[in-house]
Amino acid sequence: MADQVPDSCPRVRYRISAEDRLIEVNDGWSTFARANGGSLLRTTVIGRPIWQFISDPTTVYLYQSMVHRVRQTGTPTRFCFRCDGPARRRLLSMQISHTAAGAVEFAVDPVREDGRPALLLLDAASPRGDRMLTMCGWCARARISDARWVELDVAVRDLGLFREPPLPRLSHGICSSCAEQVIAGLGGNSTATTPVTLGAF
Ligand SMILES: [Zn+2]
Repeated sequence: MADQVPDSCPRVRYRISAEDRLIEVNDGWSTFARANGGSLLRTTVIGRPIWQFISDPTTVYLYQSMVHRVRQTGTPTRFCFRCDGPARRRLLSMQISHTAAGAVEFAVDPVREDGRPALLLLDAASPRGDRMLTMCGWCARARISDARWVELDVAVRDLGLFREPPLPRLSHGICSSCAEQVIAGLGGNSTATTPVTLGAF
């Protein structure tokens, strides 16, 4: 099943102004927003600072650093990241490019997708409790202790998530190994970094 480019994973484009406000999103953005509850539709996001849509401060800092570098050098940066669905492992690519007058475009494209047994943990319809589980926004692993990040199916097993319902709520951050690779990419001359543990791929 590898190398399929699925219809379920749209090509998403969005552009920010020199002041980091969203000035344009494409139909892929709207498709993705509707599939994820509809709270970030085009009509509600245009004009807002893009950083409002990322909750994790470290992730905001790393994206801001990449955007700054793209504006300073004029050179695009590209990396891959995981964005899984309940029954799909997905690898996507992100390219960040300077366009004009400080505006920056983000282009997200599907790279690979594999099927797997459905993980209720990623099903937005599953009831949630007060516990939180942090996933890495790059490699999709989950943090099960301060220093240990594992694939989601391992987290489900090791944390006994189904023995003690309801499921935890999910938040997104970045694991230490992905953060190191992003930072290394910012400091080097490379225009293509892959800060993701490809695990199942
Ligand atoms: Zn990671």
